[in-house]
Amino acid sequence: MLPFFQPNQDDAPAAQRPPERIVPSEILGRKPELTQCPFCEEVVVTEIHSQRGGAMWITCFLCLIMGCVAGCCLIPFCMKRLRNIQHVCPECHANIHTHKPL
Ligand SMILES: [Zn+2]
Repeated sequence: MLPFFQPNQDDAPAAQRPPERIVPSEILGRKPELTQCPFCEEVVVTEIHSQRGGAMWITCFLCLIMGCVAGCCLIPFCMKRLRNIQHVCPECHANIHTHKPL
């Protein structure tokens, strides 16, 4: 019985491990991802930096139009999901991709 179960025990950790896949730089999301830098050709896990983007200003403007003038229009600037995410190569520090929520 033991030799029969041995291969299954080896397979279980491999199945639970997330696959190490290289994400194309054009579709990088909100998290650091494994990708190939188009500038230095190295396969790297990107460093991310969040910054204010157009989505925040558009949401702020929509709040103003709907009558939120008592500071409520500043709420979008506190929402992390509306921030642009800049992916930077840790090797050559080039900007690989900027993920924009809108
Ligand atoms: Zn690079």
